[in-house]
Amino acid sequence: MNDEYSIIWKNFIELLRNSVSQVTINSWFKDLKLYEIKDSTMESRPIKIVTLETPSSFIKDSLIKRYLDTISDVMEKILGIHCEIEIKTSDEIRNESNSSLPKLNKTVDNINTNPQNIIHNPITQSEIYQNYDDNLIEKYTFDNFIIGESNRLAHTAALAVAEQPGKLYNPFFIHGKSGLGKTHLMHAIGNYIKKNSNKRVLYVTSEQFITDFTTINMKKDADYIQKFKDKYRNIDVLMIDDIQFLGGAEKTQQEFFHTFNNLYDMNKQIIISSDRSPDDLKLLEERLRTRFSWGLTVNIYFPEIELKKRIIKNKMAGHDVAKLVDEEVIEYIAANSENDVRHIEGAVTRLYAYTAIMVPSKIDLEFATEALKDYLKNSVYLDSNIAKIQKAVADYYKLTIEDLKSKKRSANINYPRQIAIYLCRTYTDESFPKIGLEFGNRDHSTIIHACDKIKEDLKNNDQLKAIIKEIKNNIG
Ligand code: ADP
Ligand code: MG
Repeated sequence: MNDEYSIIWKNFIELLRNSVSQVTINSWFKDLKLYEIKDSTMESRPIKIVTLETPSSFIKDSLIKRYLDTISDVMEKILGIHCEIEIKTSDEIRNESNSSLPKLNKTVDNINTNPQNIIHNPITQSEIYQNYDDNLIEKYTFDNFIIGESNRLAHTAALAVAEQPGKLYNPFFIHGKSGLGKTHLMHAIGNYIKKNSNKRVLYVTSEQFITDFTTINMKKDADYIQKFKDKYRNIDVLMIDDIQFLGGAEKTQQEFFHTFNNLYDMNKQIIISSDRSPDDLKLLEERLRTRFSWGLTVNIYFPEIELKKRIIKNKMAGHDVAKLVDEEVIEYIAANSENDVRHIEGAVTRLYAYTAIMVPSKIDLEFATEALKDYLKNSVYLDSNIAKIQKAVADYYKLTIEDLKSKKRSANINYPRQIAIYLCRTYTDESFPKIGLEFGNRDHSTIIHACDKIKEDLKNNDQLKAIIKEIKNNIG
């Protein structure tokens, strides 16, 4: 994919998250590529024909059956024009370009009909907004941002920035892994400022900034350059989301540097988010990174169990069926979901969808486990202490609970298994046979042997002591 296409594609996947779950993205969109965007007309109106490439005809058929409308809607949002979607397998694309070869008489027309030679020009349609558009999403507010230990500092600082833009922390830099609420917080700040002042706010993703700037180079038109400047300099608050994508776009970085300085010198608020800290933005120019650390940098950490539970409850509340949900279902989702609020919310959506189909009288653990069995990774309910220990050991060694229970005897699995068995024997009241049963039905001499082995190793292995201490701390 060329640079413009990669930007469009990244944008597409990001926006798609609003319509489908991460699991759907992983299953159906991961190996998909943006092959080509062509101009065309439909009922004498201009449209784009967007061709996507997949290696598999099975994926092609499934996408056509289920996701064509969604793809077209999301593409339309990005390209700002109606899009017809075509999905082709890599083989089809190869065959098409081969079969067009013999016809090539090296005339300009023929060359242009070869897909390889079509002039890719998707961005010219993406005009910079004539009318001022702040891009704020209203539904992301401080009111519906749930606070826990992992995001408290980020939230408090964000609120302070919203109350006094340009005065306290400039720039304000939020970083954290995907799905932890960075974008939500940025919009919350923007919405707050918009509601409580006359200040002009602009939210853009870094892809949007790159697209706008690249268009300058394509158009080379003074009027357009002026529009770009108006858009990015004639504002009081500039928010750039996911700045890590500026890495590699050197010219755009330079332009951003000027935009930054210009706003900063006028005490305008700049808010930036990234999936890593300023120091770790290795692909960004040093002078930009230095500027990012002039103000305040906050980190959003992975949500702790308590925060996950609160988010789940909040997401459940307001639906008629919320009162059918057992508390242990909330615990179950919190313990088994990923450290990504999108994934947590997805679990609730899925549970409710299943509820709408099955109409149970109660949403208890059994029902939830069934509804979410393909969605939650380590779908175990941690009711027993043995299961909790197994999960803590598996997490520590990056194994699965199934590995610990399996017949596999390689050292990288066997030793963690022996540690888990030792912990179960030492810290639970369970009998040898019961522990054996929970570890893939092993006989009790194996269990005794494992305990003895670890006890012996512990006598003179300080590293093992430290590992066991850490695992114990992580037992949920
Ligand atoms: P990021 O930008 O860090 O990848 P987002 O801000 O897009 O994450 O958050 C992903 C989803 O999770 C959004 O729907 C957002 O509303 C929700 N979310 C994240 N953190 C919280 C929170 N603390 N309270 C409520 N919703 C949250
Ligand atoms: Mg985001």
